[in-house]
Amino acid sequence: MRFRSWIVRGGAALAAAGVLVLTPAPLGAWGLEVHRLITDRAIDRLPVDLRPFFDADRAFVVEHAADPDLWKAMDLRGTLGVEAPNHYFDIDGLGSAPPFADVPHDRRAFIDKYGSAVANRTGRLPWQMAAVYARLVDAFGRVGRGAAADTDTRYLAAVLAHYVEDAYVPFHAVVNYDGQLTGQRGVHARFETALVLGHAHAMTFAAVPVRPVPDITAFAFETIVDSAALAAPVLDADRRAAAAHPGYDAAYYAMFWDGCGTLLTRRLGEAASGVASVVTAAWKAAGQPDLPAARVEHLAPQAAR
Ligand SMILES: [Zn+2]
Repeated sequence: MRFRSWIVRGGAALAAAGVLVLTPAPLGAWGLEVHRLITDRAIDRLPVDLRPFFDADRAFVVEHAADPDLWKAMDLRGTLGVEAPNHYFDIDGLGSAPPFADVPHDRRAFIDKYGSAVANRTGRLPWQMAAVYARLVDAFGRVGRGAAADTDTRYLAAVLAHYVEDAYVPFHAVVNYDGQLTGQRGVHARFETALVLGHAHAMTFAAVPVRPVPDITAFAFETIVDSAALAAPVLDADRRAAAAHPGYDAAYYAMFWDGCGTLLTRRLGEAASGVASVVTAAWKAAGQPDLPAARVEHLAPQAAR
C-alpha cells in the first residue's frame, strides 16, 4: 500500500537504511515526531494575540498534530473519502508543466476536467486542508464558550497543522513519490525520515516570516507547486550520494545531507511558518475573537456522542 508522510511505518525502512544505531527512540515514531517538532516551532511563530491560547496547552496541540497519520492505520474515512489521499497531491501527474496554472483549484472543476479515476490517484490534500481550515474558522467563532469549544479549536488547529506540514514535503507533491520511477526506491523515507533523524540534534529551522493567507486553497496549491519543484534536487542529491555510497551507510547520509540538508532545513522552517500563517488566517477570518487565557480543561466535543 502506498504510504506517504513524514512517517515510516514500522522500522523496516530505517533498518534497511542502516540507521538503526542512531535511534534511541522507538522506531516508527519519528515521522510522528517530525510533525510534532514542526508544530511546536509553529506555536512559537504565532502572533502575540494567539500564542498564549495555544501555549497554554502546547503539549496537547503538539501531540495531536500527528493524528491524521494514525487515522490511516485505523482506516478512518472523512467527508472527502478514505484518509490516505488527504495527505498528498501529485500535481506533476496531470499532463501540465510547472507552475501548473491550468490545474483547477475548485474540486468539482478538477474532477470534471480529469475524471474521478485520475482525481483519486492524484490525491486531495488542497481540499482536505481547506475543509479543516473552514472548521477551524468555525471553531474560532465559538471560542471562549466553555472548555469544549476551546478544546475543539486547539484540536482542529493541530489537525490543520498536519496537512499544512504535509504540503511542504516534496514527495507528497509528485508522482515519483518514492523514487520508484528513477531507480531510487526508498528516497521518501531516506529524505524525510532518516535524514531528519540523523541531524535532529543539530538542526536549525530556517527563520521564515509568517504571511497573510487570503485564500487557503490557493495557498495549498502554491505550497504544493513549490514542493514539487524541490523533488528534483533531492533526487539528484540522493543519486549522487548513492552512486558514491551504494550501501546507504553513514557516508551516504553525510553526502546526502551535504546535497540537500540546506533545502531540508529551509523547508522545515517554511512549514512551521506556514502552519502559523494558516492558523492566524483562520483566526482573522473568524473576526479575530479574543482568545481565553490559560485555563485548560479537556472535554469531549459538544456534538459528539
Ligand atoms: Zn500526513
